[in-house]
Amino acid sequence: QEIIVHAPYIINLGNAVKPETIFLAVEFLAKEIDRTVTAEAYVDSAPGAHVGEGVSIGTEQIIKGLNEVLTQDMDCCVALETMAGKGSEIGRTFEELAGFTTGKNSDKLRVCFDTCHTSDSGYDIIHHFDDVIEEFDRIIGKDQIAVFHINDSKNVPGAAKDRHENIGFGHIGFEAINYIVHHADFRDVPKILETPYIPSVENPKKSYAPYKYEIEMLRAGKFDPDMKERIVKEHEKSV
Ligand code: FE
Ligand code: ZN
Repeated sequence: QEIIVHAPYIINLGNAVKPETIFLAVEFLAKEIDRTVTAEAYVDSAPGAHVGEGVSIGTEQIIKGLNEVLTQDMDCCVALETMAGKGSEIGRTFEELAGFTTGKNSDKLRVCFDTCHTSDSGYDIIHHFDDVIEEFDRIIGKDQIAVFHINDSKNVPGAAKDRHENIGFGHIGFEAINYIVHHADFRDVPKILETPYIPSVENPKKSYAPYKYEIEMLRAGKFDPDMKERIVKEHEKSV
């Protein structure tokens, strides 16, 4: 059993403009690591955004922050997530992610591979997942992937948007995602869905978790184009 703790997105280790946000981010990440005491655990965190200062200054800032939280005696690793490239996010290419490993105790760093983000940032995981992984392997090492975030994307490859869609309903599509989740190289790597809730028809304030249904489709290897309607129907007898 593996445990993965997702750090809140307010954490921005890369902000070179407002140093106080870095202090908050370092303090929070350190506490999160403290709370995560299990042996095979990962704290998953977005690396950060440089908010206008450029990738190299942002990367330096993030490394400074990581230097303060990564220690040899910590019981978990910090998995930095592949980013969509929205705004000034750092980590949209494998090279940018590899740039974080020059700091202290970087053996405690891992990667969280997000399918929506890598497609949005321009990697062709739809038709050439194996080539993308080969590239990742060359630059970082595929054994460094500690966790996958499995999401479809509302946008076309390279759009740099970061808007998740339910499995099979977006631009990545069911076949590509099904291929990735069943890939032999990553059989033992945990996979987490971060797909949107399905809105209720009866009550605008309500929505339903899609995960059970998406996992069913992926287990069966078969896309159900009526999944969203079916979820609402199963929750709302009157529909
Ligand atoms: Fe993610
Ligand atoms: Zn995302």
